[in-house]
Amino acid sequence: CGIVGYVGPRRAQDTVIEGLRRLEYRGYDSAGIAVVHEGRLSIAKKAGKLANLEKVLIEEQLPPATVGIGHTRWATHGPPTDANAHPHAGGARRVALVHNGIIENFAELRGRIEADDHVLLSETDTEIAAHLVELQVESGVDLPTAMQRVCQQLDGAFTLVAVDAEDPGRVVAARRNSPLVVGLGDGENFLGSDVAAFIEHTREALELGQDQIVTITADEVTVTDFYGRPVEVERFHVDWDLSA
Ligand code: GLU
Repeated sequence: CGIVGYVGPRRAQDTVIEGLRRLEYRGYDSAGIAVVHEGRLSIAKKAGKLANLEKVLIEEQLPPATVGIGHTRWATHGPPTDANAHPHAGGARRVALVHNGIIENFAELRGRIEADDHVLLSETDTEIAAHLVELQVESGVDLPTAMQRVCQQLDGAFTLVAVDAEDPGRVVAARRNSPLVVGLGDGENFLGSDVAAFIEHTREALELGQDQIVTITADEVTVTDFYGRPVEVERFHVDWDLSA
């Protein structure tokens, strides 16, 4: 339902939670966050309000990472439980991923993954994508290429946002039939399911088109199609006021 991504000098946990709070108006049933710090993935997620997640974060502090992704879930596959909340990770807990929308062919993909001895911890259509992306990076390709290859296999509507613990410093996102915007900062960049996620920090933005993938680092934003071909995306300025 709500998606946030961040790379830059700020503490990712605070920036991501603040972004999720800005997206609360969309409604949701669970919330979660993943950060990458010193080559390790940390995930916290909880059914219910963002306040429930914040309570967990007070009890078990996440490391002071500067790269993170967050999600507020509106359940479509599997009830609103802690296990079904996003982010989902691959079996090696190297890739974490959040998802808006529905992966229509997940049952078939799930069958393939389970036949390959992968153990799934949730009932979501999303977890399968985390496993598939992780399999790709484990085979040696980089995260943007992994996302391209997986998106080529997916049917349905999705905004996917992923991090790879062994490739700190960047967040990769993809979209089909589901919105995704990039907030362009100065030495930092943001991702959101809508501009409310980052409008406090920047009003310079890019709107991704159909079947596109974006890679953000603190200083760079690169957009391609699902086959790695570069795409030009026009910048826009967000000139409306959120308080309305
Ligand atoms: N289909 C996914 C799930 O049920 C994502 C739902 C959403 O858009 O929040 O977990």
